[in-house]
Amino acid sequence: MMATSEASNPSGAVAASHDPLIRVRGLEKSYPQGRARAYVLRNVALEIRPGEFLSVMGPSGAGKSTLLAILGMHDADWSGEYFFGGEPVHALSVKARGDLRNRNIGFVFQSYHLLDDLTVYENLEMPLSYRNVPKSQRSSIVCDALDRFQIVGKKDLYPRQLSGGQQQLIAVARALVANPRLILADEPTGNLHSEQGREIMELFRKLNAEGVTIVQVTHSETNAAYGHRIVRLRDGWIEGETTVAPAAGRAEGSA
Ligand code: ADP
Repeated sequence: MMATSEASNPSGAVAASHDPLIRVRGLEKSYPQGRARAYVLRNVALEIRPGEFLSVMGPSGAGKSTLLAILGMHDADWSGEYFFGGEPVHALSVKARGDLRNRNIGFVFQSYHLLDDLTVYENLEMPLSYRNVPKSQRSSIVCDALDRFQIVGKKDLYPRQLSGGQQQLIAVARALVANPRLILADEPTGNLHSEQGREIMELFRKLNAEGVTIVQVTHSETNAAYGHRIVRLRDGWIEGETTVAPAAGRAEGSA
């Protein structure tokens, strides 16, 4: 069920594999502050290749979550250019942007964001309804996901009946169920014990090896090193970026 290559992706908005999945230029975000503006993102330029695993770091207030919300097309109040798979997000209508998001992007949040009144099964089904997958196909897709994540036994439970680590596993499964090209994760291990956090990062590594592009915000150097590249934000500016040496992170144990 994974997007394993550009060619197999059903999204329609397909870029050739050498083209960036994401290209952002001159991205600015600000809020009114008195008669002036308070800038949260300044002249951000960023390219993310298909299949890349990018970590975004920086102090609290640097603009990381804001950047993720913009990349995730949840925030439309910014200026600059943003191309996703060649589509000019900055020029799309609200509906077209929503469609592009629903077809291509899965989200994982620090606090899981599962719907408390829905069972695990129903939580997993939710993104498929946004994506207009016919009801008849949904159950087989959800059952595949339950199998793949080895959570069949949890399908009728509610989020409150699960541990934090299990809830985040369900949240990752939910993010993937509609077969997105991109996973955006905002401090996905922030609420987890270290062992549970490690399991989620290992899962991300595996999903990335299967072809899913991942952008994660993290405060943890250890987690950041699971990515290929670390971009550091400060006061809304990209302060610099580093390539992760294979031995330091992702290649470790991934043979
Ligand atoms: P990070 O994720 O790096 O901690 P955020 O992206 O959450 O940073 O926030 C960046 C900055 O944007 C912060 O200084 C925050 O105070 C500011 N900010 C966020 N929302 C608003 C808002 N509605 N009005 C004014 N400033 C805001």
